[in-house]
Amino acid sequence: MKAIRLVRLSNIEAAELSALQGHTERQRERLYKQRRLLALLSVLIEPIVLAIALVMLYVAVSHLALEMAATMLFFFILLRMSPMVKDAIVHRQSYLGQMASIEVVSERLRSLEEAKDDPGGDRELTALEEGIICRDVHFNYAGAQTRALNGLNLFIPAAKMTAIVGPSGAGKSTLVDCLPRLRTPVSGQILFDAVAQSEFDVVSLRQAISFVSQSPQIFNVSAADHIRYGRPSATDEEVRWAASAAQADDFISEMSEGYETLMGEGGIRLSGGQRQRLDLARALIRRAPVLVMDEPTSNLDPESEAKFLAALEAVRRDTPTTIIVIAHKLSTVHLADHIAVMEDGIVAASGTFTEVSEKSSWFRRAYGSAANIAVAFETT
Ligand code: ADP
Repeated sequence: MKAIRLVRLSNIEAAELSALQGHTERQRERLYKQRRLLALLSVLIEPIVLAIALVMLYVAVSHLALEMAATMLFFFILLRMSPMVKDAIVHRQSYLGQMASIEVVSERLRSLEEAKDDPGGDRELTALEEGIICRDVHFNYAGAQTRALNGLNLFIPAAKMTAIVGPSGAGKSTLVDCLPRLRTPVSGQILFDAVAQSEFDVVSLRQAISFVSQSPQIFNVSAADHIRYGRPSATDEEVRWAASAAQADDFISEMSEGYETLMGEGGIRLSGGQRQRLDLARALIRRAPVLVMDEPTSNLDPESEAKFLAALEAVRRDTPTTIIVIAHKLSTVHLADHIAVMEDGIVAASGTFTEVSEKSSWFRRAYGSAANIAVAFETT
C-alpha cells in the first residue's frame, strides 16, 4: 500500500492485486477452518471429558476397588482440569492460526530483503549523447512459464522520441522497468552511451529517468507543489518553465490562486488532460535526460490529447530529452521518430513508421500502412 506509486510506475498493479486477493482468500479460508474447529472443540470437549471421567469412575469402583474418597478426589481434579485442557487446545489453535500470518509476513520480508537494491557502481548519468542499447536482454518473472524478455536487442537514439508498440503481454512495460533498474535482467546488457547500466549509481540512474504514467497520482497540494515533487529545490522560475514546457502554464495561471491553487484530492479540480500536463511538468522539472511515458493520452478526450501531444512535441523540439513512450494510439505512434515493435519479448521490427509498416505484419494490422496514415493525417 505504501509503495503504490512504485507499483504504478512498474505497471504491476494487476499482478499485485491478484497476489493480494490470493493472500486474502487463503487467510479467509484459514480463519474459517480455525473458527469451525474452535466451535467444534468447545461443543465436544466437555462431553468427552465427562464421558472419560465416568468410565474411569466405573473402572475405579467396580474393578480396582478404590476408596470412595480417593475416587472423588480424582474425579474432582479431572473436572477442574477440563476447562484448562480446553483453554490449552484453543490457545494452540489460535497460535497455529497466527503462525500462518506470521509466516506469510516473514516470507514477504525475506523476499523483499533478497530483492534489495544493488547500489550499482559510482558513475553518474547526467546526460545522454548517443543513446541506449539493449543487447540480448532476458528477463523472467518468478514462477512465470514464459520469459517476459527473451533476448531483446534495441537501440534507442538520444534526443529523439521512440515509441514502443506491440500486443499486450509483449514485454513493453518490463522493458521500460529494466531501464531504471526497477527490474534487473537475468542476462544481457543495457548500455547508456556505451557504459553498462551496472556501472551507474542506481540513485543517479533513477534520477536520470523521469516517468509519466497513464493516470498520474495527484494529491491535494498546490499546482506548484505538485510540480516540485519532481525536484523539491526548484525555484519559482523553474516551476513556471516546466509548466510552460508542458503547456500547463495557461490553465494554472487562470485558476483562482494561480500556482498556489489546491488541486483537490486526486486532482479533482482538473480535467484528465490538465492532470496529465501538470504531471508532465513534474517530470520535466527534473530535467532528466530520459523521459519514459506509458501511453499518456490513453484516458484523454481528443481535444486534451491534441494539447498533450503538442506539449510533447515542444519538449522534443526544445529540449535534448530522449523520450520513450509505450504507445497504443496511432496519434502517439505517428509523432515518434523511431518505432520499436515488440512481440513475445523481442523487438520484431524497428525503424521509422514506413520501415516498420513494411517489416511488421502486426504493425500493419494495428496501424495500417504508411500510405493510409499519411492520407488520414493530412485530412484531419
Ligand atoms: P506489455 O507491457 O507489453 O503488455 P508486460 O511487460 O506487462 O507486457 O508483460 C510481459 C509478460 O510478463 C506477460 O506475459 C505478462 O503476463 C508477464 N508479467 C508481467 N508482469 C508480471 C508480474 N509482475 N509477474 C508475473 N508475470 C508478469
